[in-house]
Amino acid sequence: MALRSSAQYLDSLRDDRRVYYAGERIVDVTAHPQFGLRARQTGRHFDDASDLTSRAEGGDRVRTWYEPPRDREALLRFMEMEGALHGAGHAAIMAGLAALELVGRKADEDLGERYLPRVRAYREAIIREDLHACLAMTDAKGDRSRPPHKQVDPDLWVRVVDRSATGITIRGAKTSVSEGAITNEFLVLPTHAMSVDDAAWSVACAVPANAPGVVMISNYVGTPWGERFRADRPLTYDDFRHEVTIIFEDVFVPWERVFMDGEFHLTRELIRYFTTFHRGGVLAREPRDTQKLIGAAQLMARYNGIEGTGQIKNTIAEMVETAQLLDVLRFTALERTTLAEGVCVPDAIACNLAALTSTRTRPGYLQFLCELAGGPVLTAPSFLDLENPETAALVRKYYVGKEGVSAEQRLALVKYIYDIAASDAAGFARASSVTAAGSPSAKRMALTREFDLESCVGLVLDDLAAATKGAPQPAH
Ligand SMILES: Cc1cc2nc3c(=O)[nH]c(=O)nc-3n(C[C@H](O)[C@H](O)[C@H](O)COP(=O)(O)OP(=O)(O)OC[C@H]3O[C@@H](n4cnc5c(N)ncnc54)[C@H](O)[C@@H]3O)c2cc1C
Repeated sequence: MALRSSAQYLDSLRDDRRVYYAGERIVDVTAHPQFGLRARQTGRHFDDASDLTSRAEGGDRVRTWYEPPRDREALLRFMEMEGALHGAGHAAIMAGLAALELVGRKADEDLGERYLPRVRAYREAIIREDLHACLAMTDAKGDRSRPPHKQVDPDLWVRVVDRSATGITIRGAKTSVSEGAITNEFLVLPTHAMSVDDAAWSVACAVPANAPGVVMISNYVGTPWGERFRADRPLTYDDFRHEVTIIFEDVFVPWERVFMDGEFHLTRELIRYFTTFHRGGVLAREPRDTQKLIGAAQLMARYNGIEGTGQIKNTIAEMVETAQLLDVLRFTALERTTLAEGVCVPDAIACNLAALTSTRTRPGYLQFLCELAGGPVLTAPSFLDLENPETAALVRKYYVGKEGVSAEQRLALVKYIYDIAASDAAGFARASSVTAAGSPSAKRMALTREFDLESCVGLVLDDLAAATKGAPQPAH
C-alpha cells in the first residue's frame, strides 16, 4: 500500500471511536474545533512524501518513522525527522516495537515461533498501511509503593482478565497518552518490571483506537486563538495538545496482536531496551531550544538598551555554558553510539545528562526572560491594536525600545517570550520536560546504574590505607 494522504488519515479517524473531552462525547474528532485542528496538523505529516519521513521501495514509497535506525546515519536522519515534525513523537513507537522484537526473540527460545513473528508482522502492517500509532504505557498505578497484585483494585494496572482460543481480554487504564484521540493504533506496554505475582499484568499488545471497549477521556491544554492572533501568540496561535486516559473495558485482543502475555521475567529487559532506544528524543530538539532562549534574552536586552549590563551579561554567559554543555553531550551521544541487537542507539549517559541538564536549567532561564521582558510579557496590548487606526499611533509611540527599535519589533519579541515563558503552553512545556519520558529520579537511577560507585569507595579506602599505614579500613 502506498503512503496515505492527510485526507485518508483524517477519514480513518471517523470510525466511531469513543472520545470524551471537557464533559462531552466527541462524535467526530476531525470536526471538533481543537481536535480537528490537531488532526489536520498531524495529517500534514502524512502528505510529506519526502526522504524525511519515507523512502523509495520498488515503484512506491514506504513510511520510515517506525523503522529502527540500523546505523548512525539512520539515527541522525531519525532525529532530524523528530526535530522537524511539529508535535510528532514516533520515537516511542519505534522504541517499543524494537524492544518487543528483542524480548520476543528471547521468549521464543522457549516458546517456539510465537511473539517475534507477530511483532514483525505488526510493524510491517502499520508501516505498509501507513497508520498512526501511540504508546500506551503509563498505568494508573494507584498506590505507587505497591506492585500491581497488591493494589486494592487490581484494575489500576492493565491486566489480562480472560484468555480464549482466539485471544486475550484486557482491563485497566493507561494515562497521559499523547495524541491518543487522533491515532489509529495503541501499542500497550507494561510500565514497570514485574514479579511472578504480577504475571497477569505483564501484557503487551496492540489495540485499534476504535476497538469495542476502548474509552478515551482527553485533557485539554492550550488555547488555539487562531490565525487572527498569530502575531500575539507566535508559537501557539494554532497549538492544542492533548493526552488521553485510555480505559480498556474488557477489550478483546486477537492473538496476532499479543506480544507479551505473562512473561513477567522479560518485563525488566523490555523496559530497559525501550528506554535505551527512546532516550535519544531529548537530543532531537536540544541544544537548539536552549540556543533560542539565549537568542531571545540577548535580543530583549538589546531592544531595551541594557545589553551591556553586568548582571545580564553574566546570566547570558551562564546560558551559553549550558548550551555548550548540551552541544558536547549531543556530540558524545551521537559519537558513542552502540548497536543493541542491530538497532543503533545513542550513548545513554550523554542522553540522560542532557535531559537532566535542560530540566534543571530551563526554569531559571525562563524566569530570566520574563524579568528581561518586564511587565509587558503579560500586559502588552495586542498586535491587533496596531491595526486599529484609533490606537495604532499610541501603541507605536509608547512601546518602542531603545532608539531605532520600533514598537512592532519590541512587541513581537515580547509576545514570543510570552509564548516560551509565560503562556499556558509554556507551563505545559515546563512540566512536561520534568516528567515526560521518565521522571528525573528515573534518569538519575539510570545514570547511577552505569556508574561504578564501589570504585569510588575503593579510591578513598586506598587513600585512607596509605594515611594509616595499611591498617585495615571498614568497607562501609
Ligand atoms: C506531556 C506528557 C506526555 C506523555 N506522553 C505519554 C505517552 O504518550 N504515553 C505514555 O505511556 N506515557 C506518557 N506520559 C507519561 C510519562 O511517561 C509519566 O508521566 C512518567 O513516566 C511518570 O509516571 P506518572 O505520571 O504515573 O508519575 P508517578 O509514577 O506517579 O510519579 C510521580 C513521582 O513519584 C515518584 N515515584 C513513583 N513511584 C515511586 C516509588 N515507588 N517510590 C518512590 N518514588 C516514586 C516518581 O519518581 C515521580 O517523581 C506523558 C507525560 C507527559 C507529562
